[in-house]
Amino acid sequence: MICCSHSQTKRFGFDRNRNPRVRCLHCGKTWTIRQPRPLGAMRVPVETAKLALRLLTEGMSIRATERTTGIHRDTLCKLIVRFGDACRSFLDERMRGLTLSHLQFDEQWTWVGRKQARLTVNEKAERHDVGDVYIWTCIDQKTKLMPSFLIGKRSADNARRFMRDVAGRLTFPKPHVSDDQSYLRPGYKPVTQISTDGFNAYPEAVDLAFGPYVKYGVIIKEYRNARMIYTPSEMVGTKRTGMRGIEGRNQRTICTSHVERLNGTQRVFLKRLNRLTLCFSKKLRNLEAAFAMFAAYYNYCWQTRKPGKSGQKRGTAAMMAGIAGHVWSFDELFAAVLFPKPE
Ligand SMILES: [Zn+2]
Repeated sequence: MICCSHSQTKRFGFDRNRNPRVRCLHCGKTWTIRQPRPLGAMRVPVETAKLALRLLTEGMSIRATERTTGIHRDTLCKLIVRFGDACRSFLDERMRGLTLSHLQFDEQWTWVGRKQARLTVNEKAERHDVGDVYIWTCIDQKTKLMPSFLIGKRSADNARRFMRDVAGRLTFPKPHVSDDQSYLRPGYKPVTQISTDGFNAYPEAVDLAFGPYVKYGVIIKEYRNARMIYTPSEMVGTKRTGMRGIEGRNQRTICTSHVERLNGTQRVFLKRLNRLTLCFSKKLRNLEAAFAMFAAYYNYCWQTRKPGKSGQKRGTAAMMAGIAGHVWSFDELFAAVLFPKPE
């Protein structure tokens, strides 16, 4: 037996998975150098996978990405789930301790598998993952940050879950300080303002999640032609109601326009949300992953415009909210999400 510490090695070709192999110059032993596998067991080359994900986040369809990159559509779906899940835990970790001044909440309709009317009676009663599904989002008016999202049925339960989740990401005053505050002249100091539409599960959900630490208002917009398809409906009136801490002239600040604009952005960037096309989600799991991917891209890479008509770009939402230092490229996001730095 040769006692060898393999001190001198030389490159020795590649194995069948293109991992480099080396050979010891003294004893002649050969072995494979294991490389980090950001995509787990998937054998797609990392660069090709990155390109495919890039195209998908820019609003390209799965079939079009299949034709362009040569990756099979089933593999693409697995890639979306892999990357999307990583994006979700990445965001979950980063979106903490935020200070946001005005959050607008909304939920946007889409469907998974079949439209609600095509479901059987049993499916309507038992399945949460087919038929009508809503994408619950919120955006901060000033920074344009989307701190969280939830995908599920339009229920009071989901309203509570979502509101609770968002509240957990904001900075609240410390408990013992808050106890003092109730004796002070202005009462509780709100940590943020919230605007929602007229969905009747919100007031209770806001109350549960924020208690007295919030200014909250509801805006109800009335439309003409709301039921006519292919025709933009015309807004005929708005009704703003301050629910907590918003009175008089301040009611004019109640606004959901920015989150409605965000719904439009989602419809553009996620092919499966495009209206009047053949695109739709076949699985809730894939929709969740695709949306997480969009959320990470939107917050860290996408530059929103300055208010007004100058058309100039601002920093990304993450920069405006102080959780990122510069505009991230897609490569940076890909690396940060799939190769998390060891703590
Ligand atoms: Zn050796």
